[in-house]
Amino acid sequence: MGKRKTKRKPQKKLKDKLDVQFNCLFCNHENSIECKIDHANKVGFLSCKICDITWQCTVTYLDEPVDVYSGWIDACEEVNKQKKLQAMKQRGPSSRDDSRSPPPQNRLDPFDEDDDDDY
Ligand SMILES: [Zn+2]
Repeated sequence: MGKRKTKRKPQKKLKDKLDVQFNCLFCNHENSIECKIDHANKVGFLSCKICDITWQCTVTYLDEPVDVYSGWIDACEEVNKQKKLQAMKQRGPSSRDDSRSPPPQNRLDPFDEDDDDDY
């Protein structure tokens, strides 16, 4: 009793290898993203087993799969930002039209027929 030697953890290397799986931002599945690094071509890939999204970027030999993953997250956020910006831009000039479209009740108004040129 009490003679327990402090065990080393040889699993660490193994765990590093398993650490190439991440959560998918698109389908929200856990560990469905697989990262691979092609050091020969300095390219990092990732792909989702569930929704088939793929992404790639250039890496340095110092980069690890997690760097590819975080790069992907950054890229996704950038895309979302630009989408939002575009949505805002599209809304901007047409905001006047918005004040015209809100009254849908007019359409139900039978007296609105006056507006019809057919009549
Ligand atoms: Zn996915």
